[in-house]
Amino acid sequence: MTIYTSDVPVPFLPKVGTFTYFFPEKEGDSPLPADVRDPNIVSFIDGLTGRELKRGELEDGALRFATGLRSLGISRGQTTCLFAPNSLEWIIAVLGFQAAGVCVSPPNVTYVRGELAHQYNNAGCSSFAVAPALLPAFEEARSLFKTPVPDDRVILLAPPDAPPHPKYKSLYQLLLARGKPEWFEGEEVHQPIWRCYSSGTTGLPKGVNSTHYNVTSQLQAAKTMYTKLDPKVDKTLAFLPFFHMYGLCFAVHQPLTSGVPVVVFPRFDEEPVLRGIEKYRISYAMVVPPVVLILLHSKLADKYDITSLRSMNCGAAPLSGELVDAFEQRYPHAKIVQGWGMTETTVAATLGTADQITTKELQNAVGRLMPTFELRLVGEDGVDVPRGERGEIWLRGPAMTPGYHENPEANEKSFAPGGWFKTGDVGTRSEDGWYRIVDRVKELIKYKGFQVAPAELEALLLQHPDVVDAGVVGVEIESLATELPRAYIVVKPGTPVATTAERERLTTGIYDWVKARVATHKNLRGGIVVVDVIPKSPSGKILRKDLRVRAAQEVKENPPARL
Ligand code: AMP
Repeated sequence: MTIYTSDVPVPFLPKVGTFTYFFPEKEGDSPLPADVRDPNIVSFIDGLTGRELKRGELEDGALRFATGLRSLGISRGQTTCLFAPNSLEWIIAVLGFQAAGVCVSPPNVTYVRGELAHQYNNAGCSSFAVAPALLPAFEEARSLFKTPVPDDRVILLAPPDAPPHPKYKSLYQLLLARGKPEWFEGEEVHQPIWRCYSSGTTGLPKGVNSTHYNVTSQLQAAKTMYTKLDPKVDKTLAFLPFFHMYGLCFAVHQPLTSGVPVVVFPRFDEEPVLRGIEKYRISYAMVVPPVVLILLHSKLADKYDITSLRSMNCGAAPLSGELVDAFEQRYPHAKIVQGWGMTETTVAATLGTADQITTKELQNAVGRLMPTFELRLVGEDGVDVPRGERGEIWLRGPAMTPGYHENPEANEKSFAPGGWFKTGDVGTRSEDGWYRIVDRVKELIKYKGFQVAPAELEALLLQHPDVVDAGVVGVEIESLATELPRAYIVVKPGTPVATTAERERLTTGIYDWVKARVATHKNLRGGIVVVDVIPKSPSGKILRKDLRVRAAQEVKENPPARL
């Protein structure tokens, strides 16, 4: 067995609750230095309205909200659904839940009825925090909730000046007297505080338990590896969705360990974000590959002064060295570094910093190992590959999830003896410790950084009256810097598919039928192809590799139309 470790020493890993880590009641409870914890620091700025949230206001709001939660019977050990786009209220809420010891499960904001209910039920939620704009989706899903959520356990994340809602209390109406945060010590720090969803290497989306210790360990490690920023000069750009681990951990919580202000946008819209970079002199951004591509070709970028942007961290999906190079040629002031990780690793397992990327060869590397991980590269035979060769990356360490929520079967499959988590990503390690991701052996498809689980779309397609078998794979579209989900289907005997027009009519119908039932990132943008048979192994497993090879070839000759 060859175990790789980081050349950075393991930092101090505190055994406290996450809220105490950010806002200790007394000196010594948290390793964060006093200047970072200054209550007068502006921690977050709403990029659209300019509204500011100081660190002291955040602490106060979270502690008062925790009292409001307890007054409703929402308390330690429970789980809540937090369903809202990025906002300052989201941040107060997520920290308020942590102060109250309530685990937060944040669904994707584009989820529709069945998806939302699945996460609420599967995560074991019993209360609901929701943005006013998402109330219709919530109301539609509500009848499917196994634990009914009474009106007084629905909390609206509305802005402070919003008129009162006739039925639901807003976060601001629940800011009661400031109390004490829940205290976690010893084994209690291994209780989950977040439950994001990931399909892992196979099957349907599963609840990933992230414990207090996972989160604080990740943040302590990030301090040793993260691009160094100066709280007095730098500002961070945050449009990544807070419901995804990348945004949740690195856009909301990591900056609280450095004191650097974060300019928050609800999503990536080109013009407001460019205007925001100019207005706030933003110097650091967390991005995903499609955003790098948009900025590379942006005409609007010439209208704004974005020369303050010095450094960007790109993750969540593969980014080619060529794209990095082209970007840095157009924006010589901004350096891109990559990180790699996943929901299960509480975001990053490898990271690079701008000053380390000194050669073109390093532009496609995803960084160096974080000090809180041990890593192995394992071959298909389950044996570690010789140095320098590619292998599936296996990881373990204090930031690694203890497992999927109430899913022993998935945990059994995902963890090898010794506590090694099989990531499903294939990587290489250079002699001097730089990692590259070269393939993916898991089923997962990534559309613009968002997870699409083939198994979920296949199960859905099988419910269509004309479909008897289905296989879904991702197809890489370089010009969009993303994969697209593409379906192969076998149709019921008698379904008219003999002519091109008949096939077109059928596949358009199926595309729309799927679209009506899933979040937008799961649409079959990569195309739908009618085939005689789905290639399968003797044991009945879909031969996805074969389908992927076929898809890549077909798309080269005939690019998908519905992008
Ligand atoms: P998620 O849990 O949604 O963050 O998805 C994690 C998966 O995204 C990883 O297992 C990889 O397959 C992929 N991924 C994340 N970061 C990178 C990266 N820098 N390069 C290539 N793939 C990545």
